Amino acid sequence: MRFISVIFYFISCSYASTGENKPIQAFVIPHSHMDVGWVYTIQESMHAYAANVYTSVTEELSKVKHRKFIAVEQEFFRLWWDNVASDSHKKQVRQLVKEGRLEFILGGQVMHDEAVTDLDDEILQMTEGHGFLYDTFGVRPQFSWHVDPFGASATTPVLFALAGFNAHIISRIDYDLKDRMQQNKKLQFMWRGSSSLKEQIFTHTMDQFSYCTPSHLPFSNSSGFYWNGVVLFPDPPKDGVYPNMSLPVTKATVQAYAKTMVENIKQRAAWFKTKHVLWPWGCDKQFYNSSVQFSNMDPLMNYINQKSEEFGVTVQYATLSEYFLAVHQSDLVWEVRGSQDFLPYSTASQQAWTGFYASRNVLKGVARRASSQLHAAETLFTRYRLDYPDGPVAKDWALAKLRALRWAVSEVQHHDGITGTESPRVAEMYLQHLKQAMMGVDELLAAIFLLPHNLDVDGNNYRRTKGAHQTLEQHIIVYNPLAWNITTLVNITVTFPFARVFDDARQAVPAQIQKSALSNRTYDLFILVELGGLQHRKYLIKFSDKPCSKRSKCGDTFEAKGVPFERRSVRNRKKTARRLLPVLSETYKLMFDQDTNLLHSITYLQDKKRIRMTQDFWEYHANGDVQTGPISDNYMFSANGSAVRAYEAVQMEIIPGIVMSEIRQYFFRNESDDDYAFSVVTRVPRCFGGKVGCHRLEQTYSLGPLPINTEVIFRTSSSLKSERSLYTDDNGYQMMKRTHTEFTNNTLARNYFPMVRTAYIEDELSRLVLLSERAHGVSSQTSGQLEVMLHRRLWNNLPWNLGYNLTLNDSSVVRPTLWMMLGSKGLTSKLYQRAALELQHTPVVMVIDQPCEEEEKGFLEKEPRGSSPSRVLVLPPNLHLLSLSIPGWNYSSHHDVHLGRVHSDKHRQPEPNYDRVLLRIMHIFEEGEDPELSKPVTIHLKDVLQAVGEVSAVEERSLTGTWDVASMQRWTWKTTEDVSSRNVRSSRIEKEPFSVTISPKQIRTFFVYFKSGPRLP
Ligand SMILES: [Zn+2]
Repeated sequence: MRFISVIFYFISCSYASTGENKPIQAFVIPHSHMDVGWVYTIQESMHAYAANVYTSVTEELSKVKHRKFIAVEQEFFRLWWDNVASDSHKKQVRQLVKEGRLEFILGGQVMHDEAVTDLDDEILQMTEGHGFLYDTFGVRPQFSWHVDPFGASATTPVLFALAGFNAHIISRIDYDLKDRMQQNKKLQFMWRGSSSLKEQIFTHTMDQFSYCTPSHLPFSNSSGFYWNGVVLFPDPPKDGVYPNMSLPVTKATVQAYAKTMVENIKQRAAWFKTKHVLWPWGCDKQFYNSSVQFSNMDPLMNYINQKSEEFGVTVQYATLSEYFLAVHQSDLVWEVRGSQDFLPYSTASQQAWTGFYASRNVLKGVARRASSQLHAAETLFTRYRLDYPDGPVAKDWALAKLRALRWAVSEVQHHDGITGTESPRVAEMYLQHLKQAMMGVDELLAAIFLLPHNLDVDGNNYRRTKGAHQTLEQHIIVYNPLAWNITTLVNITVTFPFARVFDDARQAVPAQIQKSALSNRTYDLFILVELGGLQHRKYLIKFSDKPCSKRSKCGDTFEAKGVPFERRSVRNRKKTARRLLPVLSETYKLMFDQDTNLLHSITYLQDKKRIRMTQDFWEYHANGDVQTGPISDNYMFSANGSAVRAYEAVQMEIIPGIVMSEIRQYFFRNESDDDYAFSVVTRVPRCFGGKVGCHRLEQTYSLGPLPINTEVIFRTSSSLKSERSLYTDDNGYQMMKRTHTEFTNNTLARNYFPMVRTAYIEDELSRLVLLSERAHGVSSQTSGQLEVMLHRRLWNNLPWNLGYNLTLNDSSVVRPTLWMMLGSKGLTSKLYQRAALELQHTPVVMVIDQPCEEEEKGFLEKEPRGSSPSRVLVLPPNLHLLSLSIPGWNYSSHHDVHLGRVHSDKHRQPEPNYDRVLLRIMHIFEEGEDPELSKPVTIHLKDVLQAVGEVSAVEERSLTGTWDVASMQRWTWKTTEDVSSRNVRSSRIEKEPFSVTISPKQIRTFFVYFKSGPRLP
């Protein structure tokens, strides 16, 4: 039956699409692409054009009934709405939204990048925008417009499907692939972005014209279909006359404009299966002067429609939903694309956009740190609110701090933000917004921990300490933001050479102190902490100038001393591996070669498997002169030959320890240099009975400032027979297999991939995994090799780059960290996802003032042994607590009730709702990845959340919270392959109250309400 109906649909569609009489229907979608950053700061953009887009579009749409517009980036819209729009503008906007003439598309704060962003932050920035739109207008965007991100990730369609979207638009994909898809009418398809989850979404790839109308028409000496002209910075022109305004549409010119437009529509219609053409009318920074723009579009479109029979084309103002509705109603059967992504992205054979994976390493690092701090603060504030609804931490103040950081983290996800493809002063703007908001959240954390009614069982009057510790005693609070129990090391920098550490049960804690790797005047103190899920504990540190004389007074702290190894040249290293030096843990044996001071091999002891392995720094020398060949810039990577070794000599120091051992390697560019150019510190933790993640080797690198036009990689070369294939993650959500591909040109750069959290290589027996706390570019240029691009500094003479200051002359010093794991495939499969999250969400350490003596006595003597200051929230090992927060949205969960209020409201800003808790739980395994951990898991929310409070009600919601999943109806599309019913996501809470089952890679979102009043024990 299905087969027959498929044939029927093909016939009916081919009839429809070749129907002689039916004109091509062009959906003209007016839009303005507004980068939240890039060349100009947000403030500069608001002033020069962005505010004018919304002011003038609102006015122009209100004047003429059939005009329409789509609004995409919410950050600009909200800045306009909150600070610029008059009451009458607001009234007009509400009316236009109601009429469906102003349509919010995508709805995120920004159009996020897809290659170097983390899943958490993509969800956050969508949630931020969607919450505002739903609160304010009762609207829920259902279509994406991802027209500018540099390549398309397979995670994006999954997230958009989970958010309730009906269709997704992408544009920037590999030029030759797009060409083929265009020729074969395959630009549209159903995309099942996750092989485990099977969520699917109709995806439209923009054709070769992408999101801009054609410009530079032969008869118009200006900018084609843009009568706006070009934006002037810093101030808009006083007389409203912008440079480059095109010839107006008049009796004399209308025929030429119409002919060009019709030809373009027909050209594009040939690339699609239906007779509907998406004709985006707009480009970057358009419609700021929209009275001029619309007053030329109106007569031109009228003219074409008057001659539609002659032209064979009709044109109409449309929103994106109208276009997709027409395509949907054509009822065709669409091919299915699996979980492969569209990365990397090239625009021509010599233009691989793989440089930005590593551009502006500092910004990439700060953005991720800010995101983890936000996660920690959200969980803490949620617990605080439930424990002390009337506590002294003012809720409005706290929510304002959180919102500022939500906003800053959202903003930097922009496709010219975290990508590092912005001008230096815009990079500085993002950093400033992030740092300011992080300082605010720091204050919030301090308030939660230190004010009376803090989250401790016994409120002590601690004060916050900043800077170096001068006192002989110090308290710290360590908080675990993960919903798993962890045992790990925290590192704090101190100024005393010796210290003893005690936990809140008065027990001496294993610790290790040693001279700092970065400074001669400070010491690194490593403390072994054991924390339950979402638990914080206090630790007391007692410092001393001298080492303790008696063992009994030493506590459990080990004073570690370094053993130096003299500098070795690697220029003529003929004789190597004669003297190997082992560094051992219960898991690994690392061998270092004393002839070179380089790593020689690692044995993973469980399987007694030795892998030959060296690790060192190499660099690509980039070309900066466009006259002599392709250049590297902040977007593109274009190696001028293979990488060369970036050092001549290596010095080493090994610090054996009982908590962990440290190997410090310093790489000198020239044998006789005084200062090293790069360093790597490798930490090999002890296992402490298997509790510590002792399968990880932590490496922190230091590089920079680099010489101009160098791109530095850290290269691991191993004996793994990986055949140049590697695996890298899409946004920390799923792994993609990357098989090495030979191209006629630019093979090296086109085999570079983004790594957000994870990359690995493997052979039949072993796997080498790298985990990261910020994005990098990775590649495997030869078998067994994995190189990570850590830093780039470039300059070139391309006028466009120079004009916008986009050459990436980044002179910073960067200190990224990677965790390395080596083991069998089975073992690493069990460990790496969780380890990646442990690296992303390391414990929060807050140093606080020494309390007065009595309080200190109280700490050591009065507190009952073994008391744990907070109840723990622990999820099964395959489930991750993605979100636990109080969004503050004020809307009824019943859509009709909410709409009633929105439409009758006097547009007052409602009070935030502090009683609604947003909870997201994610299954971190793929189907079939592990025999046990890949199974679906059922949990009982009431039990699991007992540590937080007593649950009174739970509602399941869409990913960004705006839909009740039971009422969310996404469009169904006919496909060539059915989704097996086994994999269709169960979309409501199971029959047993509060019991939910989460399947591999599933993310489930809930609103949780707690009973107020004293909590049950
Ligand atoms: Zn853009």
